[in-house]
Amino acid sequence: MAEHVHVRVRRGVAVTDDGALVERYACRCGESWTKTYQVEGPAPE
Ligand SMILES: [Zn+2]
Repeated sequence: MAEHVHVRVRRGVAVTDDGALVERYACRCGESWTKTYQVEGPAPE
């Protein structure tokens, strides 16, 4: 098979207890990824 170019489709978004935003992506071939964003910047202490 020729090299497959993944197509990342966003499957959903979740928010963790830490307040981070987690986006889930998946390709039709079954490969999946997650991307985490820190919504609230590093808390100054
Ligand atoms: Zn793929």
